[in-house]
Amino acid sequence: MHTERSELPLAFERYVNSLLDRARGGVCPSCPGRVEPTLRLDAEGIPHADPDEVPLVLYECHRCPELVSTSVGKAAIDHPGVVVFHHERGVDLRSAPSWTLGWVLADPDAESTDPVRVRPTVELDGDALELVLDRGAAVVETVPSGD
Ligand SMILES: [Zn+2]
Repeated sequence: MHTERSELPLAFERYVNSLLDRARGGVCPSCPGRVEPTLRLDAEGIPHADPDEVPLVLYECHRCPELVSTSVGKAAIDHPGVVVFHHERGVDLRSAPSWTLGWVLADPDAESTDPVRVRPTVELDGDALELVLDRGAAVVETVPSGD
């Protein structure tokens, strides 16, 4: 299939998203091994990680050296609360490019370090939904704005 130059960013995004889908599902993008997510508040010891882009979520394979790191927003983007929040506002997260979703790439502040809690805010159309993620990058709480 021929890909137009203008479609390249989208094609690359789909490729990256397919790797992240596997990682979020607990499967290594490079082998059949199991990956485990960790929410990291620093970039120490993570190859190619930008120390300014923390917190981040790191998926480590138990079987091979693969490491996948992503933003907190991208790690939480398939949470049902996040999907519904966008769906109710006419945005289909399966097809919306991440660069149209400012919150996805933001670096949220750490709310606490022990236990690890990070609170990103999903924003769309003037509405907001706060998420709370734990050390295992699981969404443990969703808080709609105005509540
Ligand atoms: Zn692997």
